[in-house]
Amino acid sequence: MLRGLHAVARVAVPAVAAGVLGCAEPAWDAARLEQHHPELTKLEGHRLADVRPFYWPAGDRLTLLLCRWPDAARIPVVLPRDATPDRRRRLEAALTAWEEAGLGIRFERTAALAAGGIEIELVPDMLAWSANTEADCVVDPKGSGDRLPARMAYASIQLARDDPRLVGTALHELGHALGFQGHPRRGTSIMGKDKNRLLHTGVRVLKGEGFEDATLAALYAVPSGTVLARRTLPPGHTEPIDRLLAVAAREGWRGPFLRAGDTEGLVSWRDGRGREVGVLLHGLSLALNEPSRLVLEPLPAARRALK
Ligand SMILES: [Zn+2]
Repeated sequence: MLRGLHAVARVAVPAVAAGVLGCAEPAWDAARLEQHHPELTKLEGHRLADVRPFYWPAGDRLTLLLCRWPDAARIPVVLPRDATPDRRRRLEAALTAWEEAGLGIRFERTAALAAGGIEIELVPDMLAWSANTEADCVVDPKGSGDRLPARMAYASIQLARDDPRLVGTALHELGHALGFQGHPRRGTSIMGKDKNRLLHTGVRVLKGEGFEDATLAALYAVPSGTVLARRTLPPGHTEPIDRLLAVAAREGWRGPFLRAGDTEGLVSWRDGRGREVGVLLHGLSLALNEPSRLVLEPLPAARRALK
């Protein structure tokens, strides 16, 4: 999440929010996803329908997609250097729990990220129990069809150093880093906002008891880049991103990277010096049913590039 578990100003609105938004249609059809991927029906109680999709607005079209790390990925992870042995043991327990949860991924501990991976920080002055994860999906802008070439590329996790539920919070934030954005309002997923569940799951994981999460298993049962829905946007609506795509191709920028928060999203590139060139997306929930409500706000570096 742009702001994590205990966001103050950002309130999660699940993707299938017809009840909240009146009688509008759901933005995408979870039942159709199960028809195309029958293995999902075996994952009892999964809440993949509550995922916050990644938003890719380009060429006057809005594409909503799923994104995760590739099959059998070995994901580089940087653990905080300043972690005490006890805190390190807790973080390791959370990593191991996800490795053994049947997603097929493994984590490779490393001192620094070379090209993608997950960085975990312990922040001393962060309010205990708060946390923050920024998770970026990289998409090939030339892709089309029902599945875009897209995969998780990078995530940065900040955890409060003094979090009494460190294991549970780390499990939850790692879930975002693994590609699940949003917070199911029902069910038993670690991605829900139930703080007691985080605490109790953390205690169990620390004891070495088994951990599984049908919602993340569901995400990993579907190919990364799977398109959930497409919407037509008003002519010229994606102009800043379309022009930045041309600049990026000419200048050899890396990206585009997509980030999906509870209320805002981000499309960004890294320029030749590694600086972020980004366009904020506002109105994510509104845009699910009324695509023209999506607002693109180029940030200063993007505005300079567009001049
Ligand atoms: Zn969260």
